[in-house]
Amino acid sequence: MRRYEYDVLVVGAGPGGSMAARFAARHGLRVLVVEKRPEIGVPVRCAEGISRTWLDEVEIEPQKRWIDAEIDGAKIYSPNERYVLKLSADQAGNEVGFVLNREYFDKELASLAVKEGAELWVKSPAVNIIKEDGFVKGAIVRRFGEEVEVRARIVIAADGFESQVARWAGLNTVLRERDVDSCIQYRMTNIDVEENFTHFYIGSCAPGGYIWIFPKGENEANVGIGVALNKIKDRGEVKKYLDAFIEKHPNLRKGTPIQIVTGAVSTCPVPKHIVDNGIMLVGDAARLIDPITGGGLANACISGKYAGEIAAKCIENPSKECLEEYQNKVEKKWERKHLRNWFVKEKLSQLSDDTLNKLLEVISQEEIKRLSVRGILEAVQKRYPELIEEFEDLL
Ligand SMILES: Cc1cc2nc3c(=O)[nH]c(=O)nc-3n(C[C@H](O)[C@H](O)[C@H](O)COP(=O)(O)OP(=O)(O)OC[C@H]3O[C@@H](n4cnc5c(N)ncnc54)[C@H](O)[C@@H]3O)c2cc1C
Repeated sequence: MRRYEYDVLVVGAGPGGSMAARFAARHGLRVLVVEKRPEIGVPVRCAEGISRTWLDEVEIEPQKRWIDAEIDGAKIYSPNERYVLKLSADQAGNEVGFVLNREYFDKELASLAVKEGAELWVKSPAVNIIKEDGFVKGAIVRRFGEEVEVRARIVIAADGFESQVARWAGLNTVLRERDVDSCIQYRMTNIDVEENFTHFYIGSCAPGGYIWIFPKGENEANVGIGVALNKIKDRGEVKKYLDAFIEKHPNLRKGTPIQIVTGAVSTCPVPKHIVDNGIMLVGDAARLIDPITGGGLANACISGKYAGEIAAKCIENPSKECLEEYQNKVEKKWERKHLRNWFVKEKLSQLSDDTLNKLLEVISQEEIKRLSVRGILEAVQKRYPELIEEFEDLL
């Protein structure tokens, strides 16, 4: 078997993998990224919404070619659609600011990694890992029909939601049904949609999740749905929910899907173990998606940066103890927030449409400067004190 040697092997050239490679290479490490698809960034499996706020942290300059729409804020609709909570981009969190063209975005991030000196192989899936003496020491990669051995001191698994690398390495990232949202999205053309807002619909239209409309420029948008797996009997139901929603809205019904994507997001707290001897998990592979919004791009990029930098620190001693610094950084950044959002998600998924209507009625009329869970609860307490019992544990 042909054999290659690197300091760091990154599996997956999504945003998390490219950022990990970029920052590891910047520190002088010899880095290889392997990507199973023949082309980076396609097919797109994403609603493509991001905020502007985190781009500086990972040194990404916004570029016109990967921005399809600029978004001023978000609108959240009550189940009966009578009440609309309007949020500015600042209030709305990590998914509101731009609607990307991810095909170009992912390619740009990969090229940033290459500019720092990382090597990149496309159409080259990792098919197993190499593990010796309790350490991950590389992977077997299929390249042009041939299996080759890629030896590395550190492997960064950035292979997305379905991550096999974590499993091969013995890291448990198995999800409970309630912590997975099954998604389907149409890219629709010839529709009418308010362009400078992203739109979110909650309640029984999307049990345990929500429906989104993210505008992609004139008369086009990503129209999608995520539904919690524990709320459905089979995944086919997800499409039925989305189709029923579109059918009910003449501005969408007149349109046509020009692309369909399916996928899944995790909605769990930060896992306890995302490092082991010789390996770190980043992005979706590490289950770093926000449990309420299902957004994971920012977290993939930031965790990728952390992993790349810590790989440089631990390259002479890639033990679990050294790599724990990555686990600690990730926990410091997201553990509290994801635990709280996971809890709120669980709670929201139990509320009836009637309660959600009342909730939205109250908060859409309140002047809630900074939309915190506490702010919402205080407003509800004032208007519908009888409802607050349902939220007591959240308070
Ligand atoms: C329907 C849907 C809508 C979403 N909308 C949003 C949104 O609006 N905003 C947001 O922030 N997030 C959104 N997300 C989540 C977002 O897409 C992910 O969080 C993000 O892509 C994670 O980046 P990543 O690099 O960790 O993984 P990915 O982007 O999934 O990249 C993983 C890469 O690894 C490659 N790979 C996998 N296995 C192997 C292997 N064995 N060998 C080599 N390569 C491999 C894959 O081909 C892929 O290129 C959405 C997700 C879904 C499913």
